[in-house]
Amino acid sequence: LAQLFRPLDLLGMVYRTIRQGVIDMGSMFDLIDTPSEVVDVPGARPLAVVRGHVRFEKVVFGYDDATILKGIDLDVPAGTTLAVVGPSGAGKSTLARLMYRFYDLDAGRITIDGQDIAQVTQDSLRAAIGIVPQDTVLFNDTIGYNIAYGREDASEAEIEAAARGAAIAPFIERQPDRYATRVGERGLKLSGGEKQRVAIARTLLKDPPVLILDEATSALDSRTEGEIMQTLEAIERGRTTIVIAHRLSTIVHADRIVVLEAGQVVEQGRHAELLAAGGVYAEMWQRQAQERDEALAAA
Ligand code: ATP
Repeated sequence: LAQLFRPLDLLGMVYRTIRQGVIDMGSMFDLIDTPSEVVDVPGARPLAVVRGHVRFEKVVFGYDDATILKGIDLDVPAGTTLAVVGPSGAGKSTLARLMYRFYDLDAGRITIDGQDIAQVTQDSLRAAIGIVPQDTVLFNDTIGYNIAYGREDASEAEIEAAARGAAIAPFIERQPDRYATRVGERGLKLSGGEKQRVAIARTLLKDPPVLILDEATSALDSRTEGEIMQTLEAIERGRTTIVIAHRLSTIVHADRIVVLEAGQVVEQGRHAELLAAGGVYAEMWQRQAQERDEALAAA
């Protein structure tokens, strides 16, 4: 299997270099851009988002012969936050890729406000979904351009408002060229937290009813994490949000937490309920708490 991935990885790398990054997709959609087998059905209509109610109904999917998701049911009422947790390889990012329709399902369906996402135009689906990836690749261009990417018609006032909402405006305004500051390979280098805020600002400008957050796996220092959590809370408000979470401390307030293991939902509920249940989630929580304590003791 690894041998199969290598050429794809290489292809992805070459492709990325040519396009200077797949930009919006980040590491979650790393391998290749939209696979060619996904096409609009004849006569596909645009998705009509009323409120943004997302449902997965008995979703079955595998990239090749191996089944990765084995009958997933999820219900994310409009405006609520669902967090997906679970061990590496459980299929968390796959759920997000399927929502964006990077692949078609083997069975079951995913709906937004009752419309099967396989039946609507891909453009309208993707316009309705915002993604804040783990790792944002920036264009070698100005920071203003990077924020406005995907909304070329955005006015300066809108770009600045988005930067304020994402708490990156003070940083930008400290630069001599402000929004015209060049970033990327040949410009100002941004930290992981700053890049994520650019992605948040871009999402605020896009203003999508449905949001996918792919939380960074790498640990941020606790101040940066606290600041990013606050800005994330600001963009989650009023939107249907699916968070792929690695640190459980960041999802304590989610409306619902789903624990995915080997392509199946093994537990779900709110944080306190899952802790009280004393199952997989409670064990993950204790393990992470212990790791935090050890890290603090070592510091
Ligand atoms: P992590 O927490 O490490 O990001 P995850 O729960 O998000 O893991 P996925 O990325 O959804 O897991 O991957 C689920 C399974 O699917 C893994 O076994 C992975 O190797 C496999 N997989 C992921 N992408 C592909 C692909 N493009 N082609 C084939 N198999 C893939």
